[in-house]
Amino acid sequence: MIAFVSGASRGIGAACAVELARNGFDVMINYNKSEKAAKKVAEQVEALGRKAVLCRLDVSDYGAVNAVCSELVHRFGAPDVLVNNAGISLSGLIQDVTEEQWDALQSGNLKSMFNLCKAFVPGMVSRKSGCIVNISSMWGQIGASYESIYAASKGGVDAFTKSLAKELGPSGIRVNAVSPGCILTDMCACYSEEDLKALAEETALGRNGTPQDIANAVAFLASDKASFITGQILGVNGGIM
Ligand code: NAP
Repeated sequence: MIAFVSGASRGIGAACAVELARNGFDVMINYNKSEKAAKKVAEQVEALGRKAVLCRLDVSDYGAVNAVCSELVHRFGAPDVLVNNAGISLSGLIQDVTEEQWDALQSGNLKSMFNLCKAFVPGMVSRKSGCIVNISSMWGQIGASYESIYAASKGGVDAFTKSLAKELGPSGIRVNAVSPGCILTDMCACYSEEDLKALAEETALGRNGTPQDIANAVAFLASDKASFITGQILGVNGGIM
């Protein structure tokens, strides 16, 4: 069994790659800029006795995804599990956000998922099995001021997830999303200690999450234990009310 994890060099994606390896998957580890970090993730996967395939690729680039993923499918077969995790964030007032930032956010978070599904779904359909897990965000579900363009991209992830689940269910392919709350990764470096404390206090459990919290949910959705679950947006957010 093979899993492809986008943005697996750091944070949530790195934790997903290792957790999937722990669950018996060989892992295609995608990264864009952080090669050293991606190699460390590959070492962790191999230490668990699984195969790691490093894949440098800007997943927002349709042509590059098409070329690189065709080669991967040719060499290793279509992945059984696709985790669309790669993403970027941006905070700012709508008055200050530029057209270029809007385009970058939608390409990085939404088009990247489309690109990888275009590349890998045909192989899953011809095999009549497969599983896709998209990483969304609670801001896509509940909205957040200063984060409207990020929230828009994640709202798109949720709609795409539910629609694709309906389209691909008859082909034996499950499509779900995990919608994290505040998870302590590099992406949260823009928040002050005070902001992080306030976000933790908004949860029922009184804490922010770890990459492992998300990886556990992804591994569950990728497993046979979730064989009757599709089209769902699973909030993993400590109980944000
Ligand atoms: P992170 O620590 O900033 O890591 C982002 C990862 O995405 C890195 O591995 C980065 O690779 C990769 N990446 C970004 N753009 C890419 C591209 N164009 N092509 C290939 N890889 C790319 O972020 P994170 O917190 O783990 O976030 C992972 C996902 O969870 C994102 O979709 C994010 O929106 C979502 N999320 C995060 C939180 C949170 O609080 N952290 C909450 C909700 C949702 P390189 O470093 O190699 O470039």
